[in-house]
Amino acid sequence: MVQGLRSAGLSLPGSNQEQPPVLALVSFNSQECHTVLIAAIFLSATVVPIDPSLEPEDMKNLLEIIGPTFVYTETGKTLRKVETALALLGSNPTIIVSGRQKHPYVSYQSLLLPTDPEFRPKPKREGKDASTPLILFTSGISGPPKAVQITDEYLIYNCCVNCDTSCAGSVILATSPIFWISGIVTFFASIVQGKKRVFLRGPARESVIFETIQNYKVSVWFTSPNSLLSSMARIQTGMYNLSSLKMVVSGGSPLSPEVQLRAQRELFRNRLHIFQVYGLTELGILASSFPGSNKLGSVGKARDGILCKVVNLANGESVQPYVEGELCFKGHFFMKGYLNGCCTNTEYDKGDWFHTGDIGYVDDDGYIFVIDRLEDLITYNFIQITPSELEGVLLNHPAVKDVAVFGVPNHHTEDDWAIACVVTKFPVTENQLVDYVAERVPDDKHLRGGIKFVEFIPRTSTGKVRRNLLRSQLRIELQI
Ligand code: AMP
Repeated sequence: MVQGLRSAGLSLPGSNQEQPPVLALVSFNSQECHTVLIAAIFLSATVVPIDPSLEPEDMKNLLEIIGPTFVYTETGKTLRKVETALALLGSNPTIIVSGRQKHPYVSYQSLLLPTDPEFRPKPKREGKDASTPLILFTSGISGPPKAVQITDEYLIYNCCVNCDTSCAGSVILATSPIFWISGIVTFFASIVQGKKRVFLRGPARESVIFETIQNYKVSVWFTSPNSLLSSMARIQTGMYNLSSLKMVVSGGSPLSPEVQLRAQRELFRNRLHIFQVYGLTELGILASSFPGSNKLGSVGKARDGILCKVVNLANGESVQPYVEGELCFKGHFFMKGYLNGCCTNTEYDKGDWFHTGDIGYVDDDGYIFVIDRLEDLITYNFIQITPSELEGVLLNHPAVKDVAVFGVPNHHTEDDWAIACVVTKFPVTENQLVDYVAERVPDDKHLRGGIKFVEFIPRTSTGKVRRNLLRSQLRIELQI
């Protein structure tokens, strides 16, 4: 493939000044896309994985930011979307396509040439000019996705330190896609650590995930809170032989202690502990204490070489253990920056601390607890309500299958009221759910905005709730 890509024109930059070629990888997980990813990085190209489920207009916006000279994609619907996106952009890169259907582009198969044994990649650049093997887009739930430049050092640090699953066996199932940090890190980590990585093409039904664990004797499963919840709704204990599983790792969004305990009990008969990892595309998979012990609800401790502090939202001063504030991190192996240098003022402060925009606290032992996104906090009667707390309570109600809580303005005061959008398993009334919450949380946190029953909660392909979308879908109904 290295030789094939070279003959297709994906050439090494001649000098340090020259920009490396950019290859957009618009694909679901496949053996082919992983092969292209590695070969292109070997050729010092910058690879940018892009979510193939995006609409052409959104895809066009991302392609515009990165200006690819090559696009790798698959035949069928994805290729048609790529064609539309490139037409909207008026761009004409070399397109490489895998798949059986006919197409007029460079075929993946034709690039599978024997590699030139004499070929040696050029030495990598270091420091400020460090090469950028990857650009990953953030999930963009609160604004347009940002293009994060990822260096070799970032990748090596994350692959070697974070995913040390050595005590947990050697078959890793990561359901995350290649365009998400966890998909990338688990892929490279499995190579670095000599593990077998089982991947699924794209979002899969729970039955497929559990069959995969059973059939491939998976020992480590990387998943998300949303996937654990759907599994609890659809999978009965004992339906699958999960005896090979040694470790389950959840990340991407908050996993409430209630849901964690229920999942451990209902899915794994309390034989396994679910570990949480917390990460940002900008920083890698940051805090991780597995394979050691962890505390319920915590995402672990900041790793060696990374400092964590929690700051007061009003004055930016560090706060004491157990006091909530914004989580900030400082370390050497974070992103190189955003492409085109955007936004750096808001994320990094003068002391080089990266402000995550996440609310959390640290306990006496340095364990980090993530509560919610700063922008999702609901202010009522001078207190701040975290949606994840109310979501955790509601998810414990037997009729609730999925839920998203957010704030709606109360037109009589400056406050926001918490409202819950709920997907149910069986009929339940609004009053029953509102009362259920009222019995379990202090008065200020009651669901004053009520309940909205919906058919599904819109989420990103990585399981994060798209609260902005929900809000705009309900704008007319709720008069907000
Ligand atoms: P991304 O934009 O995809 O890099 O997502 C990063 C964001 O995901 C973080 O800022 C958090 O808000 C959220 N996140 C990731 N892991 C966790 C976790 N274990 N608990 C809570 N939130 C998380």
